[in-house]
Amino acid sequence: MAEFTMELNDEQKEVRDWLHGFAADVIRPAAAEWDEREETPWPVIQEAAKVGIYSLDFYAQQYFDPTGLGIPMAMEELFWGDAGIALSIVGTGLAAVGVLANGTEEQIGTWIPQMYGDQNDVKVAAFCSSEPDAGSDVASLRTRAVYDEAKDEWVLNGTKTWATNGGIANVHVVVAVVDPGLGSKGHASFIVPPGTPGLSQGQKFKKHGIRASHTAEVVLEDVRVPGSCLLGGKEKLDERLARARERAKTGGERVKNAAMATFEASRPAVGAMAVGTARAAYEVALDYAKTREQFGRPIIDNQGVAFQLADMRTSVDAARLLVWRASWMAVNGKPFTAAEGSMSKLFASETAKKVTGQAIQILGGNGYTREYPVERMHRDAAIYTIFEGTSEIQRLVIARTLAGMNIR
Ligand SMILES: Cc1cc2nc3c(=O)[nH]c(=O)nc-3n(C[C@H](O)[C@H](O)[C@H](O)COP(=O)(O)OP(=O)(O)OC[C@H]3O[C@@H](n4cnc5c(N)ncnc54)[C@H](O)[C@@H]3O)c2cc1C
Repeated sequence: MAEFTMELNDEQKEVRDWLHGFAADVIRPAAAEWDEREETPWPVIQEAAKVGIYSLDFYAQQYFDPTGLGIPMAMEELFWGDAGIALSIVGTGLAAVGVLANGTEEQIGTWIPQMYGDQNDVKVAAFCSSEPDAGSDVASLRTRAVYDEAKDEWVLNGTKTWATNGGIANVHVVVAVVDPGLGSKGHASFIVPPGTPGLSQGQKFKKHGIRASHTAEVVLEDVRVPGSCLLGGKEKLDERLARARERAKTGGERVKNAAMATFEASRPAVGAMAVGTARAAYEVALDYAKTREQFGRPIIDNQGVAFQLADMRTSVDAARLLVWRASWMAVNGKPFTAAEGSMSKLFASETAKKVTGQAIQILGGNGYTREYPVERMHRDAAIYTIFEGTSEIQRLVIARTLAGMNIR
C-alpha cells in the first residue's frame, strides 16, 4: 500500500507538466471554436492520440498509479485546458473502465483497443446506462437483454439517453436488465461491437456547456450481440443472479453493494475534472484583478475583490485535497466508510460552479461575454453537479453511509 502523499513525485511532475503543455498549447486555443461548433473535436483527439495522451496505455498507467494521484492529476490538467474538449478526450476512458472492471482478460484485449482506434484513425467509445426514466434512479432501467440460447446471442431492446459519444462511438457499452425482479442486482453490461445492426443514434442534445462533447440518445432495436459480449461471461452472471435470487427469497443479509463501491472509486475522477475547471477560472480572475484598474488602482486592492479570490483559492485547494484522498483510498482498497468518494465529487463540483460564477463577477462585463473564457467555464461547470450522480444523490449517499443505511 502506498502512503498518502500530498506531493507528486518527480515522474508525476514530469507527466503533469507535459499534460499542462498540451492543455495550454493545443486544448485551450481550440476551446472557444469547438464550443461554438458544438461538435466532437476530432482533430484535437487525433493530436492527443499522436502524442500518446489519447491511448489505453496512458490511461492505464495513470489508473494503476499506486499513489492514486495519476488520474486526478491528469484530469485536472486536461480540464484546466477546456472541459468540453477534455471530456471528448477522456470519455472513451470512462467506457474502457467499465470493461476493465467487469470484463474477462479476453474481452479487455479484444474491445479496448477498438475503443481507441489508432493514431491515424481514432475512434471513441460510449458508456450507456442512463435512460429517460432512469437517471438518478438507476435501479429502474428498462432496456432489456434476453438470451437466445439456440444462437448463443443476447437481444437488446430499449432507449438510452445522455450518452457521451452515443451513436458516434465505435464500441458502445450498454447496461441492460437481465432479470427484472432483482432491481439493480439484475443488471448486466454488454459490448455492442462496431456496425451492429439495430443500434442507432437518437436525438443529439444541444447543451448549456461542455458543448465540444457529443451527448445523444442511443436507440437499441433487436440488437443481437454474441454471447461473448456479455461482460464477465455467462457463468459469472448466472452465479451472481442465483445469489441475488436466494437473498431475495430468504431476505438474507445485505452484502456490500459492488456498484456503489465502483461509484465511490470513480467519482473522485469527476471531482478532479471540476478542480481543473475551477482552478482555470480562478487563475483568469486573479490575473484580471491584478491588471484591471478602477478608481486609479488594480481592483484586487479592494478587499471585496481580494477576499473573493482568497475564498476561491481556498475552495479549489480543499476540493483537490478531498479528491486526492478519495483517489488514494480507491487505489489502495480502503473502505469508504464515510462515502469519501462522493464527498470529493460533491465538494469539488459545487466549488467549480461557485468559483466560475465568482470569476465572472470579478471580470465584470467582460466576464459575461464570450471574449473571455470564464463565461464558458461557468456553463461547463454546471455539468459536474449533474453527471455521475447529482449533488443531491451524493448527499444522499454520504448521509446514508453515515447512518449505516442501505444505499440502492
Ligand atoms: C452532458 C451529460 C453527459 C452525460 N453522460 C452520460 C454517459 O456517458 N452515460 C450515462 O449513462 N449517463 C450520462 N449522463 C446522465 C447523467 O448521469 C444523469 O443526467 C444524472 O444521473 C441525473 O439523472 P437525470 O438527468 O435523469 O435527473 P433526475 O434523476 O430526474 O433528477 C432530477 C433532479 O431531482 C433530484 N433527485 C432525484 N432523486 C432524488 C432523491 N432521491 N433525493 C433528492 N433529489 C433527487 C436530482 O438531484 C435532480 O436535481 C450524462 C448527462 C449529461 C447532462
